[in-house]
Amino acid sequence: MSSESTPSTFSMGKVDLVELANQRAKDHLKVPDLSLRDKVAAACHILFQHRHDSGLAGQISARGEQAGTYWTQCLGLGFDETEAGNLLLVDADLNVLEGDGMANPANRFHSWIYQARPDVNCIVHTHPMHVCALSIIGQPLVVAQMDACMLFDDVEFLADWPGIPVGNNEGEIISRALGAKRAAILAHHGLVVACSSVEESCVVALQCERAARMQLLASHAGEVRQLDPALAKEAHDWTLNKQRTEAAFHYFARRAARAARAADRPVRQGGSARPCREDLHDGWGPPSMQA
Ligand SMILES: [Zn+2]
Repeated sequence: MSSESTPSTFSMGKVDLVELANQRAKDHLKVPDLSLRDKVAAACHILFQHRHDSGLAGQISARGEQAGTYWTQCLGLGFDETEAGNLLLVDADLNVLEGDGMANPANRFHSWIYQARPDVNCIVHTHPMHVCALSIIGQPLVVAQMDACMLFDDVEFLADWPGIPVGNNEGEIISRALGAKRAAILAHHGLVVACSSVEESCVVALQCERAARMQLLASHAGEVRQLDPALAKEAHDWTLNKQRTEAAFHYFARRAARAARAADRPVRQGGSARPCREDLHDGWGPPSMQA
């Protein structure tokens, strides 16, 4: 028999161990203190590296410090070209309050979501390939793997395409379809994620695309088995822990910067490296729409 004493946590229940882990994360999982604009730019670079761009289509926005305003990227720049210094501050009517250029007119549906959801501080809208594949076959996302559980019971499906999202009708339809959830797949269109922070919206968006890809792969190989809802909910709350989400965001940001350095792309003076994904590139062609 071992002479070592039994570690004190061996007799603890799972609930207490989860609480202990979350407390340790609060105490020790520290991340850099970035400005809101730096976070938005980093999110653009991360989304680009994970193939969420589709030419000039897609937008990210984050509520500004002043009520009724939000930061977003300038139409004409790709996710990889967006920096903290070229973001625009706009109001809900898309009037530019700060910065040079114009916002994507499709940002109108962001205004509708912000109006309907006071809890939302950042919206990511992209056209990632595998989410779009589900959207054109009318298949809602199936969450059936542990990492993807952050999406469990949190992704709606808009079954009918309302057309380009530049009118108020589309804004109403999309914000209604999203409801109180963190994300929605928009039929024949793409993905919208609406969360309480830039970090959470970005990480959830990446997971949506990864889960969609997994679903498409798995459903061609066999029958997708459902998760126990109680365990899936437990994993949802665990994986969306604030400190874990922020740590994941900053890891993805460092990875995007490393990829840029590896490809010897120009590095902005005093700032983060331009992202790139030559290592991931598969030659997708340009899109025909920019919404
Ligand atoms: Zn779009």
